[in-house]
Amino acid sequence: MCGILGYSGDRQASGILLAGLERLEYRGYDSAGIAVLSGGKIKVAKNKGRLKVLEDRINSGEEVSGTCGIGHTRWATHGEPSDVNAHPLWSDDMTVVLVHNGIVENYRELREKLSQKGYTFYSQTDTEAAVKLIDYYYKQEHNPLKAITRAIKDIEGSYCFVMLFKDCPDEVWGARKDLPLIAGQGKDESFLASDVSAILHDTRDVYYLDNMEIVRLKKGDVRFFDGEGYATHKEISTVTWDSNAAEKGGFEHFMMKEIHEQARAVKDTFGAVYHSGKIDLTEKGLDDEAIKNISQIYIVACGSAYHAGAVAQYVIEDLTKIPVRIEMASEFRYRNMPMDKNALAVIISQSGETADTLAAMRRAKENGIKTLGIVNVVGSTIAREADSVFYTMAGPEIAVATTKAYSAQLVACYALAVKFAQVRGTLDDGECARLIEEIQSLPGKIDEILDERGSLEELAKRFVNAKNAFYLGRNIDYAVAMEGSLKMKEISYLHSEAIAAGEMKHGPISLIERGMLVTGIITQKNLYLKTASNMLEAKSRGGFILVVSMRGCEALKDEADFVFHVPETDCHFSASLSVIPLQLLGYYVAVARKLDVDKPRNLAKSVTVE
Ligand code: GLU
Repeated sequence: MCGILGYSGDRQASGILLAGLERLEYRGYDSAGIAVLSGGKIKVAKNKGRLKVLEDRINSGEEVSGTCGIGHTRWATHGEPSDVNAHPLWSDDMTVVLVHNGIVENYRELREKLSQKGYTFYSQTDTEAAVKLIDYYYKQEHNPLKAITRAIKDIEGSYCFVMLFKDCPDEVWGARKDLPLIAGQGKDESFLASDVSAILHDTRDVYYLDNMEIVRLKKGDVRFFDGEGYATHKEISTVTWDSNAAEKGGFEHFMMKEIHEQARAVKDTFGAVYHSGKIDLTEKGLDDEAIKNISQIYIVACGSAYHAGAVAQYVIEDLTKIPVRIEMASEFRYRNMPMDKNALAVIISQSGETADTLAAMRRAKENGIKTLGIVNVVGSTIAREADSVFYTMAGPEIAVATTKAYSAQLVACYALAVKFAQVRGTLDDGECARLIEEIQSLPGKIDEILDERGSLEELAKRFVNAKNAFYLGRNIDYAVAMEGSLKMKEISYLHSEAIAAGEMKHGPISLIERGMLVTGIITQKNLYLKTASNMLEAKSRGGFILVVSMRGCEALKDEADFVFHVPETDCHFSASLSVIPLQLLGYYVAVARKLDVDKPRNLAKSVTVE
């Protein structure tokens, strides 16, 4: 979950590490630390809290000099955020110093074995077992590569390790299993990072490490080895996207910038599969034959990607008549579910590294099911391991609460739905052309909604001290309610629940108190009246009734306390519009509460732990 960096070259490492960590801080931010190797000694600076605390303490790095180093921003899994538990962690005599992303699952067992050999432990982390194990083998082998290969055979779990050995000047070593690590090649210098965005200011030439691969940096020399220690050859890739995309561009928060980038993200994602009047998925491994053979679709994802999948379930099922199941990756991965061999598993993940989603995808593959990854980060693990990949073109998303990647995921699913419907003959060509036109009109409509954001900013102020909120909807509107509710709770810490509107009377209604925010999403024409009745039930019990519906919908126009109309679109695609005011509302409540919108407490962007 954390951000990891390594540098070897001629420049001072600390400044490069701090700048890179700032760009990785979205991955974890409860502690930060760096270690620099110079003159046969490794100096470590680390503490609990944001990177800024560290920067101030070490005078922006000036107090830690040397041209070879490693850095870390932590998202604690084992041991509270504290100075001691912050990374880097070291072996007793500082021979090996290491940063870690992931979980060493058998750390107890390793600690016990190492204790018997005389090692003592000072932190509560799982990571300390790894650094001491590597040290143990290093003392026998006097060779970092041999020590690492032996250690990783003993370690269970997932990891990306980046480390320094005090006797190896200018060398930074890295190893990964199930978590991302990339190497960057510069002139007379080289980098390691968990994410390309951290090093884009320095180089665009990168290598994506394969699973179980080991890497060594030594100034401009970058070498790779397999898990047995044999040298491997890798092709260099050039990153084409713009590093400015990762800056705030005049907005107060990344989240607001990304909300405004949604029209472009939707347009580019659809544009990637729409050529000369047709949706073409052949590059995604889905030619007509493959599409005709699909008997069942499993959509597997977590968090907001799950909510995008929940929308897709309704859309794909209705347009294609293929049975679709939306599955939470963390549940799917441990379930013994009979799976149809002709099924397609659609795996959705912004980062392409979400641990549960990755494991679920592997599960589907073991069952012989074809997998299609809908992923935003190029070269990520899911992108590389899926049978085929449909990249969402959202560009780098920095705010922890997703907006533009979610919107891009929706449109990727719409493209699948319309194409599948056309190939399988559940829609005629005219109807497909009409739906495609509707999809193409979404970006303009999203921008229209953003122009009206002022009314939501005002409304949000009413709820600055609110304690609870409900989001109600049916069908696609329920799926959007889940995303709207998540946006509210994750950034504004206002407890909020999404309820399938018909379910409210079975329990949750007892929570409604005077003035409680109850948002109803009402865009599905055949269900207008049904959800409207449920909203009236909430109003009768004192709820503040906010309705998000499409222009032309008269439902609750006289009874609601506040109505926000989005432009009209085909009901299948309404989620792309109705979610926008809900994102804005969550954002404005968080801003009104003066919270850290881009880095909400306890969360991290890329969820690489189970
Ligand atoms: N498991 C390690 C810890 O809790 C690393 C967590 C991370 O990936 O930030 O310290």
